[in-house]
Amino acid sequence: EDKLIAVTEVGKIFHSGGRDVTALQSVSIRVGDGEGVGLVGESGSGKSTLGRIIAGLELPSSGSIEIAGIDASDWPKLSRRDQLALRRQVQMIFQDPYSSLNPMRTIGSTLEETIRVHEPSAKDMERRIAELLRSVGLDPEYAQRKPMALSGGQHQRVAIARALAVRPRVLICDEPVAALDVSVQAQILNLFSSLRDERGIGYLFITHDLSIVRQVVERAYVMSKGRVVESGPVDEVLGNPQDPYTVRLLQSVPNSSAEWLAPGSRAGAGEA
Ligand code: ADP
Repeated sequence: EDKLIAVTEVGKIFHSGGRDVTALQSVSIRVGDGEGVGLVGESGSGKSTLGRIIAGLELPSSGSIEIAGIDASDWPKLSRRDQLALRRQVQMIFQDPYSSLNPMRTIGSTLEETIRVHEPSAKDMERRIAELLRSVGLDPEYAQRKPMALSGGQHQRVAIARALAVRPRVLICDEPVAALDVSVQAQILNLFSSLRDERGIGYLFITHDLSIVRQVVERAYVMSKGRVVESGPVDEVLGNPQDPYTVRLLQSVPNSSAEWLAPGSRAGAGEA
C-alpha cells in the first residue's frame, strides 16, 4: 500500500492529576501522498492528540506509526538524522497563528532560520524567502515585517510559509482557521487546497466544523471518545452517515454555512 502516513491501532493514555485519561483507543488511519484527509469530531474526541502524535510532539502509549516508510512509533529512540527526516516530511499548523511566531524577529529571519535547520548551507536565501512568501499569497516585502504588523490571516499565511520552508510532504492542520474571521477562513482554506492541487502537498485537516471539512478534503475520519467511529469519502460520510454519532454531529451544524465558500475567492498558491 502506498500510504505516506499509516497509524495502526494507536492508543494514548494521559496520566494527569493522579488519574488516567484515555485520549485514544485503537485508532487506525491512513493518509496517502498528496491526499487531503479530514479528522472531525467534537471537542475532546482525541483529534489534537492524534495530530500531535503523528507530528512527533507526543508519544503513543500503544500501537504503531509509520511515516514515509520510517517507523515513527518511538521518536526519542530514532537517530537525529531520522528525526530530522521525519520533521521534514510532516509539519504542523496550529489554531492560534499569533502564538506560533517569534514577535521579536522579522518574518524573513524566521523563515531563514527554519530553512537553515534542514539546509545549513542553503544559498539564494532572499530568493527562497520571496518564493515562500509568494507561495502563500504574500508580497515578498513582508520579509521585512514583524508579526505585530500582520493580521490574523497574514499570520497564518506566514506560519504556513514556515512549514513549507522545509519542503514537507504533508501538513497536520489543527483547526487552522478556527481563530480567523469567516471571510479570511475561505482564503486560507483555498490556500490549502491549491497547495495540494498545484504542489502535491497533502494534509490531515483537523476540525470540529463539518461545513469546513467538506470544502477541503475528499476523505474523512469521524472521531468520538478517542475512537474512529466512521470513515470514507467525505460526501458519503456527511451525506449518508452510518453512525448515530455522525448523524448527531451533522444535526448540530447549521446548513446555511455549508456553501459559503464563494467562487472567485481563490487565493491560490503562487499568486501574490
Ligand atoms: P480534541 O482535539 O478532539 O478536542 P484532544 O485530543 O485535545 O481532543 O483531547 C482528548 C482527550 O485527552 C480529552 O479528554 C483531553 O482532556 C485529554 N487530554 C489531551 N491532552 C492532555 C494532556 N496533556 N494531559 C491530560 N489529558 C489530556
